[in-house]
Amino acid sequence: PAARVRGFGTTVFAEFTALAIEHNAVNLGQGFPNFPAPDFIKEAAQRAIAADLNQYARSAGHPRLVNALSAVYSPLFGRELDPLHEIVVTVGATEGIFATIQALVEPGDEVILIEPFYDSYPAAVTMAGGTPVYVPLRPTANRERAAGWALDMDELRAAFSPRTRLLILNTPQNPIGKVFSREELAQIAALVQEFDAYVLSDEVYEWMVYGDGQEPVEHVRIATLPGMWERTITLGSAGKTFSVTGWKIGWAIAPAPIAHAIFMAHQWIPFAVATPLQEAVACAFEEAEARGYFNWLRTTYRQKRDRLLQVLQEVGLQPVSPDGSYFIIFETGHLDVPVPPNTRRDYAVCRWFTQEVGVAAIPPSPFYSPPHKHLTDNLARFTFCKTDDLLEEAAERLRAAL
Ligand code: PMP
Ligand code: GLN
Repeated sequence: PAARVRGFGTTVFAEFTALAIEHNAVNLGQGFPNFPAPDFIKEAAQRAIAADLNQYARSAGHPRLVNALSAVYSPLFGRELDPLHEIVVTVGATEGIFATIQALVEPGDEVILIEPFYDSYPAAVTMAGGTPVYVPLRPTANRERAAGWALDMDELRAAFSPRTRLLILNTPQNPIGKVFSREELAQIAALVQEFDAYVLSDEVYEWMVYGDGQEPVEHVRIATLPGMWERTITLGSAGKTFSVTGWKIGWAIAPAPIAHAIFMAHQWIPFAVATPLQEAVACAFEEAEARGYFNWLRTTYRQKRDRLLQVLQEVGLQPVSPDGSYFIIFETGHLDVPVPPNTRRDYAVCRWFTQEVGVAAIPPSPFYSPPHKHLTDNLARFTFCKTDDLLEEAAERLRAAL
């Protein structure tokens, strides 16, 4: 294998979903909904295939989809988005990450990654010849709330250099569920402008923002802060938004010169994205607001979050309450689980959850750089994007074992 892939192992998601199947465990590991996708998007896909929208799409995105995206996002970005020049449809947000980095990062450029990061970021950076520079979120006094995990802004400033090209932001964030506040984003934006860098803002969980009781939490798009539109690429995902993770439809929104650079990379990666599925996502966005879909999604996930939080508290797995996303990190330090040699504790604990408790979890160390992996020794991640039945089955198994 070439050097650029030699160091890669199997992703933690592939490993733990296989382990969950092998042990017949309830899979609260990999983040994919086990409930049906909405009928209105499935019917739209069936109509699109029947109508023979089955040939290559426009390379930068099926016209009906980029128009629908412009209609949905223009009010949210506070500007009229040009569907033909400021939006690129990608094979999931994953290709959006890869193509953006290919488009912007020169060999030797530095890319700042906030830990815990989504695991594809460093892989995409190193495959482009870039150098990841890591800055961890630090738990503060309020570590049982996602908002209590924060960047040390001096540490962040120290990570910038004249070689910094890009900072990758993920809000709402996987796996802690942090939703960056306007003040935090303003501080990040100031540094990005000072060092003449760009932000890749991964907002795939943009519709899954809950807040806590009385305190509403707002999803702020860093692209909307002063001076940031010119420097920001924002990513979204139909997989998350419409519970169709297997469709792999995503999009990048950026000012025309950057969108064009992303398109230049994209045309040589997949060339184009599945036409009938783009048509279906377009139809879904056209109908979503009138159907009250986004409110339904938020309310449904908020209930599932609250239920899983309650179960975790009940069985003594102290959770970090997320403000967004569909994940919950929880503490495992008190569990007496044997750790085999050459094994990270979080892996041992998550294998134990999967094999012995019958509930699969994801170890968070793949979301940290080697020097910081120890920070997750006593943490594990569950997802709540599952049916209530499955969450109750998980609750029973956890109660029985703990
Ligand atoms: N970014 C984050 C933070 C994610 O959690 C995921 C999904 N696991 C992705 C990107 C990838 O999205 P997609 O499935 O659309 O490629
Ligand atoms: N994003 C999902 C998660 O974090 C899984 C993505 C994947 O399997 N690559 O669980």
